[in-house]
Amino acid sequence: MRTKSAWLKYQGDYDDIFRVAEEYKRFISNCKTERECVKEAVLRAEKLGFCAWEKVLASGKKLQPGDKFYVNQDQKAIALFVIGKEPLEKGINILGAHIDSPRLDLKSNPLYQDGEMALLDTHYYGGIKKYQWVTLPLAMHGVVVKKDGTVLSICIGEEEEDPVLGVNDLLVHLAQEQLKRNAATVVEGEDLDLTVGNIPLDEEPDGIKKNILNILERKYNITEEDFLSSELVLVPAGKARDFGLDNSMIMAYGHDDKVCSYASLQAIFNATNPVKTTCCLLVDKEEVGSYGASSMHSHFFLHVLSEMCHLNGQDSYLGMRRCLKNSHMLSCDVNSCYDPLYAASMEKKNASYLGHGVVFNKFTGSRGKNGSSEASAEYASKIRSLMDDFSISYQFSELGRVDLGGGGTIAYIMADENVQVIDSGIPVLSMHAPWEVISKVDLYEAVRAYQVFLEHC
Ligand code: MN
Ligand code: MN
Repeated sequence: MRTKSAWLKYQGDYDDIFRVAEEYKRFISNCKTERECVKEAVLRAEKLGFCAWEKVLASGKKLQPGDKFYVNQDQKAIALFVIGKEPLEKGINILGAHIDSPRLDLKSNPLYQDGEMALLDTHYYGGIKKYQWVTLPLAMHGVVVKKDGTVLSICIGEEEEDPVLGVNDLLVHLAQEQLKRNAATVVEGEDLDLTVGNIPLDEEPDGIKKNILNILERKYNITEEDFLSSELVLVPAGKARDFGLDNSMIMAYGHDDKVCSYASLQAIFNATNPVKTTCCLLVDKEEVGSYGASSMHSHFFLHVLSEMCHLNGQDSYLGMRRCLKNSHMLSCDVNSCYDPLYAASMEKKNASYLGHGVVFNKFTGSRGKNGSSEASAEYASKIRSLMDDFSISYQFSELGRVDLGGGGTIAYIMADENVQVIDSGIPVLSMHAPWEVISKVDLYEAVRAYQVFLEHC
């Protein structure tokens, strides 16, 4: 089915679209890690009167329509709720997205000296084309937890006067052998080490490393042992920028999946008086399989739901199960986007197009829909009628050509819990590259679509 550019609908009146884009650019420029996203979500939620879950729980009071609260899971995932007029048993409307993005993580013992340089060794996180991560200005974000539990927040490389770090590449003059290698191995994972220093403290063989350790201690209060209890990650340094001569697009690090996370957050804030209880769930670890306490596989979400049912006097297990059975979810994650430079990887009728609005994927998976929970035709019908009722620009698509690859999202995890789930997101160019591109109008349509879903599904 042919879809139209969503830009046409606004007939030159783009003020709102560009305003939302500016707010998103500020968000994504400051929130590059899952911890930074949670921190920002908490800040914004509290300003709007959302209460910390611990306080709700401690009060022991029955949840009332209009109650708003957030659950902070280990500073790396967050669930925000607005209680609706209908009882929980009637189900809730959930927007689920992920706030982790591909990057380089420091190893536990990262620092060494070689060839008159100090270097930091990394282990990449998520699916990357390794050759894209060399000779880029990188910033170090994260936390170091001292032995006494003190948490130090680190962010080096984002301010104008900060140094940046980076991974070297072999000069082209000597690269004849390297360039014959296949693209997956042209830069090896073990060679993604950062150059971080050149000044020796003394004439000892590890003088440069010692100097770096001195700086770390003096400037940041970090010792070499402290790396053992740290989460330090390297991400492309710098802010999101307008992209294109018509300023229609945004280039940023981590659109996957912070753009859907942002749209979901915005939607739950906009939907102020919902009929059903609404939830915005932002999880971690999607890019590495959704394992662990802050991921979608974590039982923290079901635990909270169970406590909510309990507060409302329902038997918590059965109450929770009834609630899930009647719940609907959009698994909000970015989609591929038709790119004329790589037309052969797409199937034109079923590709999503830049600027054609929010994307729905009835199924994901690879090699014959493997791993996909696939939304039912009934649920797809409900969604498309909702989108049409509110004049939202949307497109139904697949990731790419059959048997070329594929991918999954968090959809199947909640589908397994008996929730109706469909994938929905924003088309992204150069997905998983250090700098990804989206269209501003797609972000705008997603915010609207997600609010409509929360209020009317
Ligand atoms: Mn994603
Ligand atoms: Mn991804």
